[in-house]
Amino acid sequence: MTSTLPSSFSAATDSPTVVPETVVPESAPLPVSLRIRQRLDAAGVPYLANDNIAEQLRDGEMDQLEIEVAGKVRELLRSLVIDIDNDHNTEETAERVARMYLHEVFKGRYHHQPKIASFPNVKKLDEIYTVGPISIRSACSHHLVPILGNCWIGIKPGERVIGLSKFSRVADWVFSRPHIQEEAVMILADEIERLCKPQGLAILVKAQHYCMKWRGVKEPQTSMVNSVVRGDFRHDPSLKAEFFELVKQQESMLGT
Ligand SMILES: [Zn+2]
Repeated sequence: MTSTLPSSFSAATDSPTVVPETVVPESAPLPVSLRIRQRLDAAGVPYLANDNIAEQLRDGEMDQLEIEVAGKVRELLRSLVIDIDNDHNTEETAERVARMYLHEVFKGRYHHQPKIASFPNVKKLDEIYTVGPISIRSACSHHLVPILGNCWIGIKPGERVIGLSKFSRVADWVFSRPHIQEEAVMILADEIERLCKPQGLAILVKAQHYCMKWRGVKEPQTSMVNSVVRGDFRHDPSLKAEFFELVKQQESMLGT
């Protein structure tokens, strides 16, 4: 009997042969993402979804990554049985998605932290203040769909101060990665502590998760609220209460 199975199918299992991604013809250059991962492994640098790897990237590699990712998205679309060769709407989707991931929605993984100048707290300011709402845009690590919401930051100044708009910049950079909300807030707190070493820091995030709105349980109104309090906000309950009261006032000013 003549087999009609394509040669890539194993007669024993009828399943496609899976080629491990690390097996590449000797003459072919390694994919850029593999070269970067090998470098990160050798340096012991973690590259989880919400880590930043900008320090480990070399000149020209972002352009090469863009080409590699676009190729993989093209294959994803083909696997979803979308006729990208004849569909004028999806013709260049792969390139758009690659640019969007690498330079917009996940830029916080590949781009350096925006330059943020801090200044000595010469007047020894020690009254608390809050900044917010700061819009946050992220994506859940589990489904890669949007997490959209607002964030409030409370500061009791310490050694150094930074401009108010800088909180938005650092929050945007931290949130522009695949995340789970609980970890995102901790990472943002670490970065702010590093930038201005406050005596106290409080962060509140309220966000809607599209993996709950758009899919899954399809709950359009549910939001997740979480917070982190450090330093004096943690040790002094009245300071912590003052932060949440100030946030409430800022929210009511917006009518939200
Ligand atoms: Zn999700």
